[in-house]
Amino acid sequence: MNDKLIVVLGGGESGVGSAYLAQKKGFRVFLSDSGKLKDKHREALLSYGIDFEEDGHTAYKVLQADEVVKSPGIPDNSPIIIKLIEKGVHVISEIEYAARYTNAKLICVTGSNGKTTTVSLIYHILKSAGLNVALAGNIGVSFAKQVAEEKFDYYVLELSSFQLEGLYEFKADVAVLLNITPDHLDRYNYNLQDYIDAKMRIIRNQQIDDAFIYWDDDPVVTREIEKLKPQVTRYPFSEINKGLSAGYIENGRIFINSKGSTFNMELELLALEGMHNVYNSLASGIVAKLMDITDDQLRESLADFKGVPHRLEKVASIRGVQYINDSKATNVNSCWYALQSMRSKTILIIGGVDKGNNYQEIEELVTSKVKALIFMGKDNSKLHSFFDGKIDVIKDVDSMSDAVKSAYELAEKGDTVLLSPCCASFDLFDNYEDRGDQFKEYVRKL
Ligand code: ADP
Repeated sequence: MNDKLIVVLGGGESGVGSAYLAQKKGFRVFLSDSGKLKDKHREALLSYGIDFEEDGHTAYKVLQADEVVKSPGIPDNSPIIIKLIEKGVHVISEIEYAARYTNAKLICVTGSNGKTTTVSLIYHILKSAGLNVALAGNIGVSFAKQVAEEKFDYYVLELSSFQLEGLYEFKADVAVLLNITPDHLDRYNYNLQDYIDAKMRIIRNQQIDDAFIYWDDDPVVTREIEKLKPQVTRYPFSEINKGLSAGYIENGRIFINSKGSTFNMELELLALEGMHNVYNSLASGIVAKLMDITDDQLRESLADFKGVPHRLEKVASIRGVQYINDSKATNVNSCWYALQSMRSKTILIIGGVDKGNNYQEIEELVTSKVKALIFMGKDNSKLHSFFDGKIDVIKDVDSMSDAVKSAYELAEKGDTVLLSPCCASFDLFDNYEDRGDQFKEYVRKL
């Protein structure tokens, strides 16, 4: 038994996993959540015999901590964190904590968009090639729980900016930075640089033996690299070959240069459609080659990957109209890529909780590809003030059943109905999965 007290703040997937890991490592553990715990998390804590509280933090208990593991959902300026920092208590994230207890290779992916798709694709490639690999981070079973229970040789970690904030000693063996566009600005006091700084922590502590894979066409990413001059081996990918590109597109093929050999594959054979997904495939392919996956294995996995639900997911074709669920498009940039990949006139369902969106980014694509807009949110006023007068047909709805009904009435043979909302979902739905599931349910009932 170790005398140190680990306090875990937040009893979600990552918090419960951290508490479990801390207990397994012999620490005293206390978990505290300011809100209600989900039943499954409460039951897990009870079954592990871990001391916890919910519906509020008992400050004197929390402040006894030797170290605090904080859920990524709790901002640094929340009162309890301020108190802890004033007292000089070390506050870290679940990822930082769990990484202490594994020697596995850590392949870490961040970016404003494409994280889940890319980690899922990397995991698929490595797993299909027979590596002993797990998927964790902002997805599925927590990293901490998997470290506590299993012995993996590789972890593919999806890291959000909130998770990156709590990293100090952590080091990625392979870091992938897909892109940086404005998102979550509400959490960063509308200061884009703070958000960028959080994302750039993905390369913190990396050395020359480590790999940094990044999108070389992203002006924000390239500017930051110029500024930070990281001492790490770089693997940039881009649309065209810039000379030192590790991944690029040429003559309808993707090319990946690494370890002195070149892999190439026809774009048409990639399982994932859309330009953004070509970038995701390039990034994943570079990781695969760094992990010594053979060309044949890589080709097969890039071609047979099933994709991830709620990301440009084809739902059904009804009377010649294609319905696509892109509910995970919770910011403007992801909707931009969805619209860019549309090949027919589109009816776009958009709206929800605006996170400081600038719709100018999609204006050109909307005016050239969208024949009708369906605004679906409790408050559509910002959408109206931007799009009114630019698109002839605009409808307001406040439920998914009405959104799908309106789309069905407006669509003609050959059109596409696209749910790509640019916004968070909390005004009308539990989360983006609920929004996407409802979309699929109503479409299938048509
Ligand atoms: P994240 O986990 O970063 O939110 P997802 O893979 O869940 O990313 O995709 C979120 C949204 O972004 C989806 O609408 C998807 O189609 C779109 N998207 C996926 N990859 C990219 C990319 N590289 N650039 C821009 N948008 C992307």
